Amino acid sequence: MLNKDRAGLYIHVPFCSSKCNYCDFNSYTGKIDHADNYFKSLKKEIELYKAELRHYIINTIFIGGGTPSVVNEQYILEILEKCRTEYNISENCEISIESNPGTLSNEKLKAYKNAGINRISIGLQAYQDKLLKYLGRCHSHKDFTESVKNAKSAGFENINGDIIFGIPGQSLGDWKETLDYLVSLGINHISAYSLKIEEETKFGRMEEQGSLVPVEDELDREMYHYAVDYLNENGLKQYEISNFAKEGYECKHNLIYWKCVDYLGLGAGAHSCLKNTRFSNQISIEGYIDYLNRGEKPLYEKNPLEFTDKMSEYMFLGLRLTAGVSGKEFYELFNRNMFTMYKDIFARLENKSLIKITGDTVKLTRLGLDLANQVFLEFV
Ligand code: SF4
Repeated sequence: MLNKDRAGLYIHVPFCSSKCNYCDFNSYTGKIDHADNYFKSLKKEIELYKAELRHYIINTIFIGGGTPSVVNEQYILEILEKCRTEYNISENCEISIESNPGTLSNEKLKAYKNAGINRISIGLQAYQDKLLKYLGRCHSHKDFTESVKNAKSAGFENINGDIIFGIPGQSLGDWKETLDYLVSLGINHISAYSLKIEEETKFGRMEEQGSLVPVEDELDREMYHYAVDYLNENGLKQYEISNFAKEGYECKHNLIYWKCVDYLGLGAGAHSCLKNTRFSNQISIEGYIDYLNRGEKPLYEKNPLEFTDKMSEYMFLGLRLTAGVSGKEFYELFNRNMFTMYKDIFARLENKSLIKITGDTVKLTRLGLDLANQVFLEFV
């Protein structure tokens, strides 16, 4: 049985103060008055999974969104308390919360810290206020500086900054300035994502109407390569396609996803994978609350994960990590030799210089990191 003892917990808080132009996450504006019912429902959901989680130790909790920091901190504290009452939370559990600049007062941060939250993720996206405005963000870079300062004085040293490259109108110089700025603030973890224009977003509609032209692939890749080199030089080692950290500050919760460890997602639209079954929750806030008011699990979809799918998933998620996938670990988990199983795929990918096999380990090459989707498709 794969990783039977440890699991991660994801808690979704779907409220935001405004909708960013690129965002297709399950987040809502103007619904904060549902917060009271929503958090009551979360407590009920926590109780409904008590039996399933009895045999697990929770090593990581990630409170994501949406913007969890827009709601009164009391809601967050009560949810963590409820998790501690109902589940086995390890003593040194990594507990992360996502936030936006401008929503982190000193009192809130102290309350988080006292409740055992030990990692804080803050969305910057870009240094230049003109780009923040274009993205539809509701803060300036000064708000971010202030939030980092407040977080540090509240005792947080495990801080992540989220940034985006490949924004229409963003120059390579702008991108370098964003990276410089984060490094100068002494941030220990950076997530850097290439902007994806999703259909159901304001940017998606703008692209359809021709008022938004995505950046050229060449510039996008130049920005990515610059970030990889620059951050590595500054002690933030790339450990996953889009994630960089100082030693010891890698996000343990995200590693759970990439290593296919079990996790339970609570809240509207949250996804879970427990005991080889994948399931997800009702997406709307109202639908989610309705199910829990009836005392039912708020399930939307539920599918068994076949053994072969699990192995493929382990490969394409594991290859996201710069450490690659080890044949020994694969064998320990699945009792199969991955070099025999994926012999043809490996040969094809090696021929295209997308992967490199060194001893017992398979890793993406630099080209493979750029064309990761091509690699992953081979395993699907
Ligand atoms: S803050 Fe995050 S979740 Fe909320 S709208 Fe913006 S990108 Fe989406």
